[in-house]
Amino acid sequence: MSKSPVPLRSSERAGLARVAGALALPEFQPGSVWLAGAGPGAPGLVTVLGLHAIASADVILYDALVNETLLAFARPGAEMIYAGKRRGKASAAQADISRSLIALARKRKRVLRLKGGDPFVFGRGGEEALALSRASIPFRIVPGVTAGIGGLAYAGIPVTHRDTNHVVTFVTGHGTDGNLPELDWVALASGSPTLVLYMAVAHADEIASNLIAAGRAADDPAAIVSDATLDRQNVRVTTLGALGDAARESTAPAILVIGENVKLRAGLDWIGAMAGHLLNPDPLKRESVKVAS
Ligand code: SAH
Repeated sequence: MSKSPVPLRSSERAGLARVAGALALPEFQPGSVWLAGAGPGAPGLVTVLGLHAIASADVILYDALVNETLLAFARPGAEMIYAGKRRGKASAAQADISRSLIALARKRKRVLRLKGGDPFVFGRGGEEALALSRASIPFRIVPGVTAGIGGLAYAGIPVTHRDTNHVVTFVTGHGTDGNLPELDWVALASGSPTLVLYMAVAHADEIASNLIAAGRAADDPAAIVSDATLDRQNVRVTTLGALGDAARESTAPAILVIGENVKLRAGLDWIGAMAGHLLNPDPLKRESVKVAS
């Protein structure tokens, strides 16, 4: 499916090194591990520090959701280890990954652990960093653009907006055993006008019925953003009551969002607008909206 990335020319590598110098980016020390986020999908959403890490590492352990185009920035001869986990086999693989990070760092390698989105957002970055901490391996965290924020931005849905929500809650649909975690549905339904759910496609029915039973309106706006930020991004706008059906028609990876802020997409779907779709300048139907002249 994915083409192997074409390595950079040495002039391109030199350009990147100049950027790293101009920004005074930290040096990747041998014997250390950097846990970095690659962003939600589109390669341009990696940070400069993340790109510098890719270009400096001796070995890169990367996850399934990392855009492989970014690996073209690796040094010639850098070792690439695919560390994507299959559903249900997560825990064994997780211990192996932490062990590999430690073993490679002890061999004085510059070890990059590259994860989709942000390493500390539902990405087990904390667990891996704790394993490094216990083994006294020096490490650095390189944050990334998380799918629940960057992915929604590409769908034209601001994660917060003054007229719709002063609060946003990030939720995972995937507990340690693979089932929906034990959550306080009443608190979620009443306390957070916007809910952003990761790893939740498979449990969308259960999530929607729990929220509705806890008092959330079935006609609350909702959306499912699949393959967010990539060219094949697909957005389904629906309601809480129909979320399960919409999820059955959606592909993973996907972000689910529930709340009034979904309505803003009608005015802010900038990708659609570039393809010629008309935007609604008053998506919340507020008469006070002033149209710039
Ligand atoms: N650390 C990552 C999240 C890892 S959990 C981050 O910060 O984004 C994996 C879940 O993230 C997926 O099941 C999906 O819910 C979400 N996700 C990651 N990339 C995505 C993408 N390009 N489009 C939609 N959802 C995505």
